[in-house]
Formats: sequence, structure tokens, C-alpha cells
Amino acid sequence: MNTELAVRRSAELEALIGQDAAPFRILTGDRPTGPLHLGHYFGTLQNRVRLQDLGAEVFVLIPDYQVLTDRDTAEHLDDYLAIGLDPARTVIFAHSAVPALNQLLLPFLSLVSVAELRRNPTVKDEIAHSRQQAVSGLMLTYPVHQAADILFCKANLVPVGQDQLPHLEITRLVARRFNSRYGAAVFPEPDALLSSAPLLLGTDGTKMSKSRGNAIALAASADETARLIRGAKTDAERYISYDPQRRPEVSNLVLLAALALGRSPYDVAADLGTGGAAALKDTVTMAVNELLAPVRARRAEYARDLGYVRRVLREGNQRAEAIAGATLDEVRTAMGMRY
Ligand code: ATP
Ligand code: MG
Repeated sequence: MNTELAVRRSAELEALIGQDAAPFRILTGDRPTGPLHLGHYFGTLQNRVRLQDLGAEVFVLIPDYQVLTDRDTAEHLDDYLAIGLDPARTVIFAHSAVPALNQLLLPFLSLVSVAELRRNPTVKDEIAHSRQQAVSGLMLTYPVHQAADILFCKANLVPVGQDQLPHLEITRLVARRFNSRYGAAVFPEPDALLSSAPLLLGTDGTKMSKSRGNAIALAASADETARLIRGAKTDAERYISYDPQRRPEVSNLVLLAALALGRSPYDVAADLGTGGAAALKDTVTMAVNELLAPVRARRAEYARDLGYVRRVLREGNQRAEAIAGATLDEVRTAMGMRY
């Protein structure tokens, strides 16, 4: 699905969510390859909290099996709790603790061709940025693993950034093919939900990413945030405008301020007028630091209570395993594997 279509579909979905969020089951995750950043926050994290608060069922996965370097798998948990995900309502769990989820990968792999996986633009992009010598089978099959992540709990809505749209297409394909091959309506075809910042840019003007050294981390200090924003790429025009096509870097900063302030980017740009890049950056810095101050304070508290954070993960793992077991049973029944 192209981005324009996905934006339109997201608007339709928002209308349905506005009527009643309860029929939506959400699954998302962020690979623990580095600290969460503003791209995550405005691209997907904010939507998770909003959907949770509106009464949707929310699952957040820590995809530790998809991490190619050694990391502490619980690393994002204090961020999740700090932004307002509530473990009483939202299931937070890790791949490695849910064997039944991972078993779905086997039947799912049989439903897609190698050519389909090779064509996936996000996989291509990730391979290009991974600085790995060779492409592992894990990297190539990542979108199929993600299909297992999403479908194990029969999620029907996935709040993601634009880069995830090709992956989600593979999940939809797997769901469709499974249902038609085994003549059973086991899986829904989940929709992507894009936010108003489906592709936030980093300080170098390319997609803000954990692995590109261009991100503003949620956990950064106020001073560090100011320093990073001061160094962000802009252009030579003094007049500030919101024109993402023609002025991507300046517009990205305007959008960042607008999102943090809860205002329209056109109004923010109009207020800045001929103030130039320095005034724009000051506005962004103040807005982001103000938005994140309470998040950062809560995060520091959770970071001091690792026992609690671990308990949240253990409980989430158990809830996810029960659901994955039931889905795997259904899958085996549909495939005639009842012995
Ligand atoms: P990596 O560099 O390891 O790929 P990443 O920064 O791209 O990390 P992911 O864990 O791949 O982060 O993405 C987690 C979620 O956050 C996905 O839904 C993704 O679409 C979203 N996301 C990541 N970066 C951005 C961004 N710059 N703008 C909007 N959404 C984003
Ligand atoms: Mg990524």
C-alpha cells in the first residue's frame, strides 16, 4: 500500500476509533537496538497510549530475537512506562519468552517466496544501513517474523511509521494466504495506523533512526536535546515556512515544534515568520524539552526500580504466551496437525 492510500485509510480508521475503540486490538514493537527517539514518540508511541486510553487492547512487543547486537532486552520498558503505557491494561512482552509465537514462523515462511522477501524496500534499506558483512536469513525473513508477532494475538491495527508499510503488506499477505490455503478464517488482515508524523527526519535530514546517529532520544537531557537541535540541518532561507516537499529539513523542525506544542505546523511557521533558523530551533528545543520533562522524570524513577520493570515483563510474557498457545492450537487444527 502506498503512503497516500495508507494516510487516507488511517483517517477512516480514526473515524471508527472515535466511535468505539474497543473492537481494535493493537500490536506494535520497537527493536531494542538503541534508545527510543522522537520519531518513535510521534510516529507510533503516542498513538499506542492514546488507543490504550480510549479502550483498545494494546500489546507491545520487545522483539529481542530480532536484535543483532548484544543489548539489555528490558531497555525500552522504562520508556514505555514513562510515556503512559499501563501494564494493567497493556501487555508488554518479549519474543524470547513466547515460544508459541515463534512457532508460527514455520507455517508462515511457507506462504511467501524468497523473491517477495527480496523485493521488500524496508528490508533493502535496513540491509543497506546495517553495516553487516552479509545478509542473514534472519534479516531477510524479518517481515515474516513480524507477521507472527502481529497475528499471534490476531491484532487488527498496527500504529507504525511509514517505513513499516511494506512489512505490514507481508503480514496481510500471510494472513490472506493462510486463511485461503487452509480454508479457515483464522487471521484478520491488520491495518496500519499512521500518525501525523509518519516519517520524522533526524538531525541530518534523513529518517530519524536509532542506528543512524541522527536521533533525539526521549531519554536525552535538556542540554543534550538543545545541542542536537542546534546542529540540525536547515537551509539558507531566512523566512520560515511549512513546505515539506520543497524544504524538508526546515519543515521537519516546524512539524516537531507543532507536534510538541499541539498546534498546526502552518501556525507555528507563520508565528516564526522571518525569525530564521535560530529562532525556529529555540522554539523546537523549548517545546520538546517541555513535553519530555515529565516523561524523563518518570523514566528516571522506573530506571531506579528494575525489580518492578522486570515484573511487568514477566507478567506480560505470561499473558502473551497464553494467547499465543491458543492461536497455535487453532493453526494446527486448520493445518490438520491434531495428533
Ligand atoms: P533501527 O534503526 O534499528 O531500524 P528505528 O529507529 O528505525 O530503528 P524501529 O524499531 O525500526 O526504529 O521502529 C519502531 C517503530 O517506530 C516502527 O513502527 C517505525 O515505523 C517507527 N519509527 C521509527 N522511526 C520513525 C520515524 N523517524 N518517524 C516515524 N516513525 C518512526
Ligand atoms: Mg527501523
